[in-house]
Amino acid sequence: LYQRSSQLFAEAEKVIPGGVNSPVRAFKSVGGTPIFVKKAKGAYLYDEDGNRLIDYINSWGPMVLGHAFEPVVHAVTEKAKLGTSFGMPTELETQIAALAVSMVPNIDKIRFVNSGTEACMSAIRLARGFTKRDKIIKFAGCYHGHSDSFLIQAGSGAMTFGSPNSPGVTAGTAKDTLLATYNDLQNVKNLIDVNRNEIAAIIIEPVAGNMGCIPPAEGFLKGLRQLCDENGILLIFDEVMTGFRLARGGAQELLSINADIVCFGKVIGGGLPVGAFAARKEIMNYLAPLGPVYQAGTLSGNPLAMAAGLAMLESLNNDTAIFQRLEEKTAYLEAGIKKVLEANNVVHTINRVGSMISVHFDADPVVDLKTAANGDNDTFKKFFHGLLQEGIYIAPSAYETWFITDALTYEDLDFTIN
Ligand code: PLP
Repeated sequence: LYQRSSQLFAEAEKVIPGGVNSPVRAFKSVGGTPIFVKKAKGAYLYDEDGNRLIDYINSWGPMVLGHAFEPVVHAVTEKAKLGTSFGMPTELETQIAALAVSMVPNIDKIRFVNSGTEACMSAIRLARGFTKRDKIIKFAGCYHGHSDSFLIQAGSGAMTFGSPNSPGVTAGTAKDTLLATYNDLQNVKNLIDVNRNEIAAIIIEPVAGNMGCIPPAEGFLKGLRQLCDENGILLIFDEVMTGFRLARGGAQELLSINADIVCFGKVIGGGLPVGAFAARKEIMNYLAPLGPVYQAGTLSGNPLAMAAGLAMLESLNNDTAIFQRLEEKTAYLEAGIKKVLEANNVVHTINRVGSMISVHFDADPVVDLKTAANGDNDTFKKFFHGLLQEGIYIAPSAYETWFITDALTYEDLDFTIN
């Protein structure tokens, strides 16, 4: 099934450490063959071996309206023909900024960078500058990108390799990042008590996507909001996964809690590399007198990426029922998964928040991760390979299997049990 992909992976390993980019490597970790994709359209991937797969990952989340989405393709093609001049302003950046600000609650201004990782780093730097404090509280299991300082203390989703001893992690970054337990307000209170007037911000995935779609406990985010207000701490929502997906205004809208700074990535770029961070103007204006290098890099806000992101956000914004349809389709997917797993007596728990869904199997997550990483976990192997043979591509993750469904494009979902 994957002969040519195997050859291509062998070639890649000669010149790329680890062999091609990370999400594809996920398959390697369960003893599978990384799939080389030739083209993609709507819900489907077409690989180099001629297989057609339903893509339940959708590039880890950006393609909420499917691959090769026509308005995005058109916008990028037209912009490319007109030529792009990085470092010179185009109107596109203002247009996408204005649209994003109109869609998301409680933000007045937004800056564009190149990835979700950069968005989170910029948000942290802004919080530190604005509050004149150094420490950050992050939650174990929440992922905020591949920057070293966030991977410390083993706390980032599937990426448990980060530790204070990891290459590139200095004692300073380890000391300044305090690790808290998700959904444990008392733990956060204790950290604030011990570090009074030293904490710049609390950063959190409002729905913990990277842990397998763990919803915030009742009152947890509200409690964080209150603790932040009482202690001069900024609340940062990392909406890289939830933004423009859970609702028009992301998790802030769905859960009715406002953050002080919000980070975006994935959907906001329509498949091109775009990240962004946003806040009310009192906070964002802190950046106004600072030089561009403080805020953005060579390709930040580049016209091609802005054209793609604008086409994506316009499509989401113009169709008022789109997020509801997305949720309905995901609910249908949930019912289908349940039916299949129950029919096969697989012990599992399904977590769904709006259009984000994951399946947790009844196994020790840490043990599973370790055995899966060695490629000798039979349950994982059988499950993923079985699905692949059925033409379904989902991603294994540290704690469970998770699907970001982006189910809007799946016209032909069918859960017939053979
Ligand atoms: N934050 C969250 C919540 C994410 O899910 C991700 C990526 O998966 C990131 C940050 C990092 O974004 P990027 O991969 O674009 O750097």
